[in-house]
Formats: sequence, structure tokens, C-alpha cells
Amino acid sequence: MSEKLVDLRSDTVTRPTPAMRAAIAQAAVGDDVFHEDPTTNELQEVLAETLGKEAALFVPSGTMSNQIAVRLHCRPGEEFLCEAGCHIYNYEQGAYAQLSGVVARPVPGRYGIFQPEQLHGMIRPEDEHLVRTRLVCLENTHNRGGGRVWPYETLEAVCRWAHQNGLRTHLDGARLFNAVVATGIPAREWAQHFDTVSVCFSKGLGAPVGSALAGSKELIYEARRHRKLFGGGMRQAGVIAAGALYALQHHVERLAEDHQNAQLLAQGIAQIPGLELDPPEVQTNIVVFRVEETLGPAEALVELLAQRGVLMIPFGGQLIRAVTHLDVTRRDVEQAVDTLAQVVDHLRRNPQAAAAGTQHAYGSSPGAE
Ligand SMILES: *Cc1c(COP(=O)(O)O)cnc(C)c1O
Repeated sequence: MSEKLVDLRSDTVTRPTPAMRAAIAQAAVGDDVFHEDPTTNELQEVLAETLGKEAALFVPSGTMSNQIAVRLHCRPGEEFLCEAGCHIYNYEQGAYAQLSGVVARPVPGRYGIFQPEQLHGMIRPEDEHLVRTRLVCLENTHNRGGGRVWPYETLEAVCRWAHQNGLRTHLDGARLFNAVVATGIPAREWAQHFDTVSVCFSKGLGAPVGSALAGSKELIYEARRHRKLFGGGMRQAGVIAAGALYALQHHVERLAEDHQNAQLLAQGIAQIPGLELDPPEVQTNIVVFRVEETLGPAEALVELLAQRGVLMIPFGGQLIRAVTHLDVTRRDVEQAVDTLAQVVDHLRRNPQAAAAGTQHAYGSSPGAE
């Protein structure tokens, strides 16, 4: 029981490494609202270059980045198409409606991926009764889809169709670099199909704060205005941009380790009777599994795990999500699998425990970031 806490709730829980802290401590700073923060400027340039875009804008969160994008592409009374399980639609408080008067039209996918043909016929005709369809948003990798990577040709076909039909495209690439590392397809190749791309530095890349939106010079000029409106204009932002820049330069390739650890975790889970991977294959750093009903609610299992030092989150219904990241070692994953096996065994022997309390010792939500 003296073992350390293994926190698999999200790849957002990482703490900056000593080297990242050093980069943060030494960051050159200025007032970014005056465009005078050298570290933020450098981050924006490096990211734009990485994504093959003309410009990029540093923002406090992925939610702000996505919402600026929606606002850039859609005016009040317009709509965007997106996959039904995506973050923009489900986990941002309908901000597109609250902040920008925009409507979302979800398309059901399989583990977050839909087929290009599903969009056909979804563009509303010009008619005074109807909203106007303007944008397609995709998420890669897909969080709710269990870290799924969009098949490249499918994504390309969706974006081609969108552009041929006069729609804009936005990529929620909170975990784009996981897709890059999993496939070997460079970020700029994924990004070329989108008018705007959002990435998060505070997920698998391990920075404490920050996301960015990339696109053409004109779009990013406008994005800056919307960022100010949303309260995201920052002053000596270099203090946080330095962590993001360090992450971009040093933490991309190492995502492969997280993917290996996720494979190890998935293999362990697959061996435990009563647990079933869902999706059945793990492609990146997210592992989602289903708990058999006889073992009780997923929340109860999560609580028992937490009492034994392993944190995961209930992911809706009988699902649980575990995410590997920078602060999780192979050894930690082995510990998590052992603990999971013990807890499942305990629940099998004590069916009354399976039905018992579902209060959490640790924060969690089915919409988890
Ligand atoms: C985390 C996440 C976001 C939002 O990022 P925040 O910085 O938490 O606002 C957006 N999209 C996806 C897919 C995410 O996982």
C-alpha cells in the first residue's frame, strides 16, 4: 500500500518535468496583447510551421480554441456538422450556442468515425426557414471514441467533400500528435485538409496550460479579435507558452511510450474476466473498457480502485476510461492491472459490495477531458 498513486484519469494530470520548469523559469516575456511576448511569438511560429499553416494563436484552453474556430466559420443562425460524440458538441456547454448563436448538427459515428457518405444531403438548401450549413468539425484522435485515429483516407474524403460543397473544415486536434505518432503521418499532412486546426499542449504533451489555433493569416487575425472578446488576451503569456513550446519540441515522439503502455494496459484488462475493451483495439493512449453488470456499477469499481491507489474515471454507463501519459511508467501500468484484477476478484466474491456505494473519492465526470 506504500506504492505511489497511479493516476490514469486523464493525460491532463501531468506535472511539468524539471527541464520544462527550467524552460518556464528562463522564458523571455513581454505583453502579448501588444504582440511583444517573444516566447508566445516563437511558440506560434513553431506550431504554424509544424502544421504547415501561415499563422497560429496561443489560447488558454482547447475549449476556447474550438469555440473561436466555430465563431470564425459560422455566424449566428448558421450550423456546423460534427460527429455525435465529439468534444465540441458534448463537453463545451454548447458554447457555440451560448457564445456565438450557432447550431450543431451531429452525425453518428462508430467510435467517433463516420463515413463521408453520411454527410451527403446534410447541407441545408437556401430557404428562409432554415439555418445555413457552413462547417464540418472533426476530432482526431477521438476522445469518446477511445482514442481512435481517423483513417486518413476517410478524413481526406470528408474534407474534400466539405470543400467541394463550399463548407469550411475545423480539426479539434487536442490529441493530434497522438495520431501523428500512431500513424507516422506528419501533423502538416493531417492539417492540410482543414481551414483551422486546434491543438492542446496540456494533454499528452504534458504542458501545464495552453492550446493553439492555426490557420491562414486572415483567419488567425480574426481569431485574435475573438480571443480578446472571450477574455483570452494574455499578458506575459511566455510563462505558460514556454511550457507549451518545450512540450512541442521534446514531448511529441515520446507519446509512443504512452501508446505502448496503453497496449500493455489493454492486454492486462483483456485477461480479466468481466471486463471487455470497448473499442476492442487500442490505437493511442486511451483505453476504454466495459464492466459486466454482475460486477456492479462502473462508479463502484472506480471507487474501489481509487481506495487502492489507482485512479480511472467512469465514462458513462458501464464504461471506464484510463489514459496513459508522461507521468505513468510501465511499472505503474502493471500495478494498475494487478489492482484491477484484485478489485474485480473482490467484487465477484462479494456481490453485495458490487451493489454498494458509488461516492467518489476523486473528481470524475462522464465527459472527462
Ligand atoms: C480536452 C479536450 C478539449 C478541450 O480542452 P480544454 O483545454 O480542456 O478546454 C477539446 N477537445 C478534445 C478532444 C479534448 O480532449
